Amino acid sequence: MEHTAPSACQRCGACCRKGGPALHAQDLPLFGESGSLGLADVVTLRAGELAHDQVQGRIAPLEGEMLKLRGREGSWTCRFYHHATRACTLYQDRPAECRLLNCRDTAALAAMYASERLTRADLLPPGHPVLLLLGEHEGLVPAACIPELGLALRAGDGTSHNAAKELVRMALADEAFRRNLHERTGIGPEYHDFFFGRGAGALFAAAGVTLRADARNGLRVQSDPLWRSAQ
Ligand code: SF4
Repeated sequence: MEHTAPSACQRCGACCRKGGPALHAQDLPLFGESGSLGLADVVTLRAGELAHDQVQGRIAPLEGEMLKLRGREGSWTCRFYHHATRACTLYQDRPAECRLLNCRDTAALAAMYASERLTRADLLPPGHPVLLLLGEHEGLVPAACIPELGLALRAGDGTSHNAAKELVRMALADEAFRRNLHERTGIGPEYHDFFFGRGAGALFAAAGVTLRADARNGLRVQSDPLWRSAQ
């Protein structure tokens, strides 16, 4: 009878369903003309936005920007995970975190988790015209402000009205950046999560704010009554 070593991967797919890996300097060769990854495979998580820290096991504001493989079908499940066969369709070229992850002993992953993370600038040629636009986007849609605005909205006091106005302004600005990038450069929506990170709706949801489009009043925000801070 064949025994499987306790430490061997059982291919349950749990890690791939929790989200694609963060990308590190070792993963740079996967991009480029002969690489197996492109910018449309990547989502940017911006400094200050709320994200799950896999090592600390909690939601926390990111200290710096990071890139991850995108999810699929509106979930965090890695876009390269094949449900039916429970297989990685990128297996030979899977990123460094996937090679290191052993769910029974996460020490190796923890050791490299925050080191040499790739950023958008690492995947774009120096002087790329869109880099300037990224700075403008950060100035007008600062991800780090969203958690605080979410708390102010939730407080229901005098600050809530201003917080709601600011959140709607940010959502409109974010939408305008994405639309303009498409109209002026032809860079399609499949690349927008790389260039601008997750859309305002997703960032707001992480901070307990629901963004709604109201046909009569335009965009509106409200506190999610079921949201609980995980910090
Ligand atoms: S790249 Fe492959 S191993 Fe890594 S999370 Fe995605 S499906 Fe899983």
